[in-house]
Amino acid sequence: MSDEVRSFLDTGIYRLVRDGSKVVFLDPVRIINHSYSRFWVSPSAYYSRSFETTAAALKTDAVEDSRILKKRKRTRAPRDLNERERAAVKRHQEARTFLLNAHKAFLEAAELQALLPELVKSEVSLPTRRASEQKFIQLGSLWQAPLYEISLCFRNKNLSDDTGGYRLGDHGGTIIVHQLYNNLICNETNEDVEAEFQSNHYILPSRSCFHMSDLQQVRNLVPGNLHKSNQTLSFAHSKDGFNFIVIDPPWENGSACQKAVYPTLPNRYFLYLPVKELAHEGGALVALWMTNREKLRIFVENELFPAWGVTKFVLSYWLKVKPDGSLIGELDLFHHRPYECLLLGYINLQNDDSRAMPFEYLGINQVIVSIPGDYSRKPPLGQLLKDHIPGPKPAKCIELFARELGAGWTSWGNEPLHFQDSKYFVER
Ligand code: SAH
Repeated sequence: MSDEVRSFLDTGIYRLVRDGSKVVFLDPVRIINHSYSRFWVSPSAYYSRSFETTAAALKTDAVEDSRILKKRKRTRAPRDLNERERAAVKRHQEARTFLLNAHKAFLEAAELQALLPELVKSEVSLPTRRASEQKFIQLGSLWQAPLYEISLCFRNKNLSDDTGGYRLGDHGGTIIVHQLYNNLICNETNEDVEAEFQSNHYILPSRSCFHMSDLQQVRNLVPGNLHKSNQTLSFAHSKDGFNFIVIDPPWENGSACQKAVYPTLPNRYFLYLPVKELAHEGGALVALWMTNREKLRIFVENELFPAWGVTKFVLSYWLKVKPDGSLIGELDLFHHRPYECLLLGYINLQNDDSRAMPFEYLGINQVIVSIPGDYSRKPPLGQLLKDHIPGPKPAKCIELFARELGAGWTSWGNEPLHFQDSKYFVER
């Protein structure tokens, strides 16, 4: 076994360099498992997405694409593309070259290819319990939302008293009850904690915090604005701001599948995210996930990043592959492109910050390759980008529109406990 494979099996990160492109393959399950002490994320739960493209699905895509082409032909000849469409074609052609090179490099890494089928298999098979996916979003919109409570079950009896919740009797450990919505809830201990809400169980990794609320309340997350009972900030949440901010907004993209999974918002709403206020004054790295639409790219570059104060950004790609190494779809299909874009930029970066230097290393050709998990779930970035995060270590990290928690992270969104359901975990 080579050193590279040994390191991959431990970290979940495999680096390849080819023709000036930086290509990295990630196994999200291995990376996420570094967040947990008493539990494992089960590979079969993470890699639950089926890649069996049925003949019917292929036909639907082909029909949809040909319908769009026909419509374009009817209105104007292909050479009469407007400026934006020409820019989109040009960008796709550029991306295509990087992505094909990256995919080739990935396929040629024989040791890695041999491991792929094993990554998605679980030793323990999980019971299939399908909870209603939208539950947190629906409950959060009810008038009763402020009354819902979650119980955190700590094994330790001697917790300090400034947790913000209230305690229940001694059951061998300590149960602390918190208001579930619009409240900063933290597991300040160094081990995983189980939580209970309406007879479902959730696993909270060590030193993780979450704030479950709607965009209207997102400003409550800014340290100075936190609710009174939380003024003694947990050490897991940052009182000075965050050095790494990951954002995966619910962009509108017209896909029926996406609409069924979670609600989306018009682009302009994201101008009001308090990204600047959340950034540490000593500097923050911002990672923004984007769809491939040219209109969106223009909005982000001309309006969103200036509003957030993000400068010096570079583009990376996330290339999605199946367990057999092939791409999850045709590179040139309008729909279901097998890649998404990730913009990386800085806020408040001091000119003399030597950590700005490694940013060049990211370069414009960075390609992240992984087998995708559930719909829209993104691979974890903290470990991969840790050397590019400015400020003191360990970095203070926050994810906006999160559906999961991470050790040492703060997660905000209207369903940050979604992937923390105990059905995704097995006990170690
Ligand atoms: N990065 C996530 C996916 C985010 S999808 C992952 O890897 O799993 C976008 C998320 O934004 C969804 O959870 C959606 O429910 C949430 N969202 C949509 N509208 C919202 C709103 N008004 N306020 C807060 N969150 C919202």
